[in-house]
Amino acid sequence: MATPPRRGRAVIRCSCNDRRDMRTIYRSDPPWPHRVLVLGGGFAGVETARHLEKLTRRRDDIEIWLVSRENFTLFTPLLPEVCSGMLEARHTVTALRAQLRRPSSWAVTADVQRIDLDGKQVTVIGGDGDPHRLNYDTLVIALGGETATFGITGIPEYSVGMKTLADAFALRNRIIEMLERADLEEDPAERQAQLTFVVGGGGFSGVETAGEVEDFVRRVRRRYYAKIPADGPQGHIVELNDRLLMEMPEGMGEYAAEKLEKRGYRIHTGTAIKEVRADGVIIGDGEFIPSRTVIWTGGVRPSPTVRESGIEVDKAGRALVSSAMETSREGVWAIGDCALVPKVGEEGAYHAPTAQNAVREAKQLAKNIVASIDGRVRDIRPFEYRTIGTLASIGHRTGVGVVFGIRVRGWIAWFMWRGYYWSRVPGIGGKARVALEWGLNAVFGSDPVQLKVDYPGTAGMGPSGTRRSRPRSTDPRA
Ligand SMILES: Cc1cc2nc3c(=O)[nH]c(=O)nc-3n(C[C@H](O)[C@H](O)[C@H](O)COP(=O)(O)OP(=O)(O)OC[C@H]3O[C@@H](n4cnc5c(N)ncnc54)[C@H](O)[C@@H]3O)c2cc1C
Repeated sequence: MATPPRRGRAVIRCSCNDRRDMRTIYRSDPPWPHRVLVLGGGFAGVETARHLEKLTRRRDDIEIWLVSRENFTLFTPLLPEVCSGMLEARHTVTALRAQLRRPSSWAVTADVQRIDLDGKQVTVIGGDGDPHRLNYDTLVIALGGETATFGITGIPEYSVGMKTLADAFALRNRIIEMLERADLEEDPAERQAQLTFVVGGGGFSGVETAGEVEDFVRRVRRRYYAKIPADGPQGHIVELNDRLLMEMPEGMGEYAAEKLEKRGYRIHTGTAIKEVRADGVIIGDGEFIPSRTVIWTGGVRPSPTVRESGIEVDKAGRALVSSAMETSREGVWAIGDCALVPKVGEEGAYHAPTAQNAVREAKQLAKNIVASIDGRVRDIRPFEYRTIGTLASIGHRTGVGVVFGIRVRGWIAWFMWRGYYWSRVPGIGGKARVALEWGLNAVFGSDPVQLKVDYPGTAGMGPSGTRRSRPRSTDPRA
């Protein structure tokens, strides 16, 4: 397997024991197919790969490789529902391999470490902990973003994020842990801190998470934690801007704030989180809120690998691309949350980092890549798209949004939100699972099962085995 790298041929160790299997699938002798290497298995990366497959289904001169840290795509709009148990974690993800259809496409589960633009090579670390080099002819960077903490003391140590499946899982466990402890606690001050939930950031994900948390706590408290009084659980939303939901027109944030206040949240707009501690959070001019659960949704920054690659980036580290989504390097394209895609005809305006934009960008990008490979320069077109609208769920079967310029709110907005995102869940099987689970939850409600699945770092296979993890090399050989 340790073949030296050659043009158009990747060197990778995979779990496949029989190399002959791979030979039958991937062409290993010259002339090599043109390899499009897509980095990132989120909305942007997967949709690019899928559209490329469609456009090249009758061709064998192009192959697609998709590399991502996890072997699935996370459907982020439904992520807050994982922490409330409204949806099972597995039903918000779709396996990468299930989304690629062509035998010449390959999904690789590995962490992208380094992009060598001159050598046209990407170094990844796979599950074995060893570095592997992947060659490419065309590169798509769709690495998305990660939680940004803006250097606020204590956020990495004491808060929970809301960006990954692990975040949602950790938050659910934390909430249940707090209810269990509060049920036993005799000190009223300590109990109140356990029952106080602080959300940092009042954008889409902050408001949606706050709504789900309140919904979940209210439902399970009533049914399973009778010793906790109804007015025990409290919530705070801390937002730096003057209103919630800055992504939406004025009025929508105010509506969300009013609804959340009625359900027990204190809204602190124009207020910064100054420090998070083990026993609470300091906000604004020094107000201290005792709390054991701080949820941080206040910022996302592009994957640092984008800046490190050497392509031109903006101050935040997002790839600067043309309206056709090509970076400062020919043959290297970037889309989604990690790129700054200019709006055609609007000087200085850029497409927002949303899933909705990412999937549309991907469709155009796939066309542009095929046109570029074929040398049809005239067919490389800018990305143009007008957003249909935006919708947010704020829990309690309530939502807000703007659709085709019309403002909607309340139950109808929530219903539209659910309908729209349900229609976007990949595959008929995925749709059926989500619909069934929503239905079952509406009838039987949520339960407070706390699945503690963390293994101690040094435990290897953990309690079920004795194997110890090997030390991993992070020093790329490339
Ligand atoms: C809680 C929440 C709710 C949201 N709700 C909505 C909504 O309702 N509507 C909407 O339009 N948008 C919503 N968004 C935003 C939306 O999720 C993003 O805009 C969208 O996911 C961007 O897609 P992407 O492919 O660019 O990035 P991502 O989805 O972040 O995908 C990037 C992928 O790259 C992988 N990756 C990153 N770094 C590496 C590396 N070094 N090596 C290997 N793989 C790597 C990641 O694991 C991930 O799979 C929400 C986001 C969150 C967090």
